Parts: sequence; structure tokens; C-alpha cells
Amino acid sequence: MPKDYRQQYLRLLPSVERVLQESILQDSLEELPRSVVVEAVREVIARKRGQIKNAAVNEALRETELTAVRLAGEVLLYLEEQSTRSLQPVLNATGVILHTNLGRSPMAAAAVQAVKEIGESFSNLELSLKTGKRFTRYEHVEALICRLTGAEAALVVNNNAGAVFLALNTLAAGREVIVSRGELVEVGGAFRIPEVMSGSGAKLVEVGATNKCYLRDYRRAVNEHTALLLKVHTSNYKILGFTAVVPPRSLVKLAAEQQIPCMEDLGSGVLIDLARYGLPREPMVQESVKAGVDVVTFSGDKLLGGPQAGIIAGKRKYLEKMRENQLLRALRVDKLTLAALEATLRLYLDEKKALQEIPVLRMLTLSPEELNRRAESLSGLLKQKLAGRCKVSITREKARVGGGSLPLALLPSMQICLEAPQENTGLLAAKLRRADPPVIVRVHKNRLLLDLRTLLLEEDELLVQTLEQVLGPAKTFQGGAGAKS
Ligand SMILES: *Cc1c(COP(=O)(O)O)cnc(C)c1O
Repeated sequence: MPKDYRQQYLRLLPSVERVLQESILQDSLEELPRSVVVEAVREVIARKRGQIKNAAVNEALRETELTAVRLAGEVLLYLEEQSTRSLQPVLNATGVILHTNLGRSPMAAAAVQAVKEIGESFSNLELSLKTGKRFTRYEHVEALICRLTGAEAALVVNNNAGAVFLALNTLAAGREVIVSRGELVEVGGAFRIPEVMSGSGAKLVEVGATNKCYLRDYRRAVNEHTALLLKVHTSNYKILGFTAVVPPRSLVKLAAEQQIPCMEDLGSGVLIDLARYGLPREPMVQESVKAGVDVVTFSGDKLLGGPQAGIIAGKRKYLEKMRENQLLRALRVDKLTLAALEATLRLYLDEKKALQEIPVLRMLTLSPEELNRRAESLSGLLKQKLAGRCKVSITREKARVGGGSLPLALLPSMQICLEAPQENTGLLAAKLRRADPPVIVRVHKNRLLLDLRTLLLEEDELLVQTLEQVLGPAKTFQGGAGAKS
């Protein structure tokens, strides 16, 4: 019969007061409110108590783990954990440029600067500096969006899901909206065209087959209840093979005949022709506007490379109605978003500048030579720093754009490949994820791949330091000592 030591161990636990006397906690007691430190001590003791109670009957616990000094050490770790911000910058070494879990697009320096300036002072958010009269916040970006897209009017809301919702609610609540079956997109689980449609009060009328839809399908479905013809860009999948889709221009014509508007949800808002840079073609916002689409919606933080936002561009008479919709208030963008968006859009006035300064565009258009140069220099450095700890080489796997954009595009990319035979690769990836700063990597066949396409050039030094920390210092081979591992 094994002896149950647990009661004994519980009695060994020091009191809160006893732990608070430990010298290593005195700095914390000076810097932080006493209640915060006391709370941390209570928490650590409670965890220990739980551990003891849950231990197997005959499990030998080490008494040294229950000393006041040991618990005080754990209190310090706990306090540090508590003081770390939850939302932190991370190094994205996944190769996925638009990673929704990693915050989609990093912003251009100009956008960040604008956020800083507007964030730390008052601003003319709703005041015209010219007339001294009230101004709407949307006017700060409207002229720019119109200039870049050719639209008559524009509006910005919280995100593209909100933009679609507002447009449908304004133009079609209580009436029918015709959509092709092949375009009933789901984006990231929470956003599905059919659900957004019913939430907005509009009634979905599906036409065509999944792979084929003709103008006559739309024409047959139009009746006196029809409010809108909707086209959705299948930005995160492609239907290949035996297919037919109706181009925006034909839909626009049908809508005009019926005197109803035509709307297009583009998803990714592309303002430059990606095909010119060797990437798959994405429909550009300008093209939809030029084709006569009455309302076009797109995201600010997908291929546009700006802050999270939903941009609505189109005919003035429809946009005016949306401005009057009470829902606009609930979907309203804040000044920081507007600041970042305006600064990002300004970069697009000069395409060359946009390509250089908007991180998403720079990553998308990185040349093989540039990737190669970085791979060589970074792997050279890591070979020195991590000598004896892991094998460093270069691989050439493809990278994805992600974020529901350019679904079939596989960009040629390069990775630093790390192999540490003594370590569990999954564990190592987890350690890197918990490092400071966290590094998010790909694990592939017992190797860690660090994709250079998504690592910002400025981050190289930080990356090397973090890898050194996590993988330990290079083993020195001098005098034979330390070579054993
Ligand atoms: C991404 C996407 C949305 C949702 O945009 P968010 O900015 O994430 O709200 C809507 N429609 C399409 C076609 C999309 O690709």
C-alpha cells in the first residue's frame, strides 16, 4: 500500500507572508502596488497546492520545490508574464504574406507615422480647416479614393464585411439580390455571403450552376422584387475547367435595363496591375468602376496593404443613401484607421513609391536576386552563430499570398532551413513562438523553414539574436571542451 504523502506536502507550503519576505521580491514590492505582488504570491501558492492535490498518491514530490525562495522565483516569472502585452509584434517567417492570424498586412512607415501623429494629438477629424464648419470624417479620404479608382464617391467603414453589409442593407433590405451560385464565398468562417445577405435583410436569389452562370440566368431571375445584381470576386478560390462567368460589363448593362444597381464585392482591393510584375491577374478596382459597376467594395488590409478597413467606391446617388443609413454609425472607422488609410493611399499616387514602400507590395514583387542575396548573407551569419547547434542551409519552397488573395499563386521563394537533430522540431518551433520577439516559422519534415519573403529586411538582426537565444550560443571547439553534446 503506497503511502499518501500529499497532506505532508501541503503542510510544507509556506505562507503568503513568508514568501513576501524573500529578498528577490523586494524590488517588485517597491515598484508595484503591494496588492499586485500579494495576488501573484497567492496565485503561485494556489497552483502549487493544486499540483500537490493532483499528484499521484505515491509520487515523490521534491521538498525543495516548496521552499519560500523557490516560490518567490516563480512569483517573479508570473509577474513578468502578467506585465507582457498580449498583442505583440512577431516575425513572420511563414512565407504567407497576408496571414489573417498574423494581422494581415504590416503597414507602410508613412502610415505608421500618420497613426502616431494623429493618435497623440487632437485633429481636424470632423472640422473643415478651410471653413471652420463641420466636415465628415470620410471626406479625408474620399477625394483620394475617387482619384485612384475613378469613382464618383467613396465611403470607408470598419472592414469589407461591414462594407458589404451596409451596401446590401441600404440598397436591398426586404428585397431580392441576385448572385451566381459559383460566387457564394465564405471568407475565414465568419463571413459568408448568404449569411451576410440574410443579416442585412436582403433576400438571396441564387442563379446558375456552381461552375457556369450566364447572363440569361440573371435575366430570368429578375422581377419586380429585385433590388440589386451582385457579383462577388472569388478571391480565395478558383473554379477551373468547364466554367462560365458573366463579366461585370454585361451585368451592368442588364442592371441598367432594369433600372437597378449592380454591385461588386472585390475582396482584395488591387489598384495596380499585378500581372505587370509576373503575378496572376487580379481584377483592379478601377476596371470595375470603368465597367460601370455602381458600387464596388474591397478591404484595406489585403492586397492594398493598409489598415483594416472596408472601402466602398461608386455612384454618388447610392453612396449618399449609405451615408444616411443609421448603421453607418455602428460601422464607423476611427481616426487612426483614417490616418493610416490616407497615408497608404497617398503612396499609390506614385506607383513606384507604392511598390517600394508598401510592405505587402514589396514582398509580392521581391526579385529572385534580392531573395538570393538575403538568403546568402543571412545563412552565412547563422552558420557562424549557430555552429554546433544546428545545421543551416537554404531551401527553395514556394510561398503563398494568403489572406484569401491570389489563391492559386505560388510565389518562388527562399528559406533558411534549420535542422537540429538533437531537438524535437515541433518543440523548437513552439520555443521560437514564445521567444522575444516571437518568431512564427514553418515546420516541414523535421526541419524549420524561415521564409525570407515575409521577413522584413530591418528584422534580420533581431532574427539572428532571437535564434541565438533560443538555440543557445554557438558551441566553441577550443581545447576540446564543450564539443561534446
Ligand atoms: C476578404 C473578403 C471579404 C471580407 O473582408 P474583410 O475586410 O475581411 O471584412 C468579403 N468579401 C470577399 C470577396 C473577400 O475576399
